[in-house]
Amino acid sequence: MALKALDVYKLLPKKNCKECGDPTCLTFAMKLASGKADVDLCPYLDEQAKSVLCATTRPPIRLVKVGVGERSFAVGEEFVLYRHDKTFYHPPGILFKVSDTLAPEKITAVTLRIRDELFTRVGTDLRFSGVAIENTSGLPEVFARAVATVEESADLPLVLISPNTEAFDAALIQVGSYRPLIHAATNENFREMCALAKKHSCPLVIRAHGPENLASLAKSCVAEGAKKLIMDLCPQSLGDFIVISTAVRQLAITRAVPDLGYPIYMDATHPYLQDAAIALGIVKYASVIITTPLSPASAKAALTLRQNVYTDPQKPIQMNPGLYRVGIPGKDAPVLLTVNFSLTFFTLQGYLESSRIPCFMLIVDTEGLSVLTAVAAGKLNETLIRDSIRKFDLDHEVFHRTLIIPGYSAPLSGRIEEATGWKVMVGPRDAAEIGEYLHEVWKTPKP
Ligand code: SF4
Repeated sequence: MALKALDVYKLLPKKNCKECGDPTCLTFAMKLASGKADVDLCPYLDEQAKSVLCATTRPPIRLVKVGVGERSFAVGEEFVLYRHDKTFYHPPGILFKVSDTLAPEKITAVTLRIRDELFTRVGTDLRFSGVAIENTSGLPEVFARAVATVEESADLPLVLISPNTEAFDAALIQVGSYRPLIHAATNENFREMCALAKKHSCPLVIRAHGPENLASLAKSCVAEGAKKLIMDLCPQSLGDFIVISTAVRQLAITRAVPDLGYPIYMDATHPYLQDAAIALGIVKYASVIITTPLSPASAKAALTLRQNVYTDPQKPIQMNPGLYRVGIPGKDAPVLLTVNFSLTFFTLQGYLESSRIPCFMLIVDTEGLSVLTAVAAGKLNETLIRDSIRKFDLDHEVFHRTLIIPGYSAPLSGRIEEATGWKVMVGPRDAAEIGEYLHEVWKTPKP
């Protein structure tokens, strides 16, 4: 069980020396209890207190980083079983797998795709995470060449997959300093794999079937000095994956079996069920997902699902308030007001672009609430609109003084006119009708 702040405080030395970076031991205790500080920051803790605090205040699932530099990604450090309990913090890395027997130009093409492909959805850039190289040839020199081909094309996180420790020796000479994830340590080879992981400071996948075997292997690897672990559950089927991943997550989150507190690896490559496997991995706790290069449709579906699952359910996705342009609006262009709930913004923006009428979108800060909710909650009101017009200098952007407001905010129209001195036109309730509305109702004003 996690300790409460007061229990943590009792274990601290109470020197109030600020060496941990906090002004008092109590503030440090509060941070520790909520998992936002590390025990090692206090140099005065005795070993017994330290081990109690480590076991109770560290995140139940360790944070593991794959790769170095801008595209590196971190997984783990999750606190809940269900997203609605709090949120999921670290989205899974999704990596495209290539075989070392593939022609170098094909390996390069996959690498460049991962480097360059970018989807933008609701204002967020979405990318795949890296390349997994499999030693299907069984030959160390072929594996090393394929790894070098990827490394020469882009700085991306890598997963190296081989049953052969000699192949890892050869490949890690090329890319060891980039901290690739190496797959995998088993009961048979874990000493050699741990030595490699330690030598190159790489994260290591451990591979065993069932929570008990995984916990025991994790313990053995930690004893060998390899602490950055990710667990391959060796599922026999997708159903088996759900059963084991759920059991592992439950045992880790509740701290019933701390040795299972590591992120989960999933090989989703499957001739017929790959899309289903990826979806399952994303929603059922996989932190590193390996797939074959995906079709554009599957790629978008995977990234969209990952984005949806790994956003905070308590925070609506918001746009920055401001004045946005659609096309190149002139001083006579219409001005449409709406809220900063990103789905509202992008829906309206899409319909405005299709209307081919250049215009301004005045986005006001309703803390991410939709129009209807913001009106009901009083967040969308005449004062906010008046202040936003001033703040974003709308008076100088257009010479007319007409504001189009969303249909659901019609009850505010009189008060907005009074507070701003602008004429208010009430637009449609449904953003899909905005193009037709503008074409029929908007008359270009004369200066
Ligand atoms: Fe207290 Fe330790 Fe922080 Fe000093 S370093 S203020 S003793 S928690």
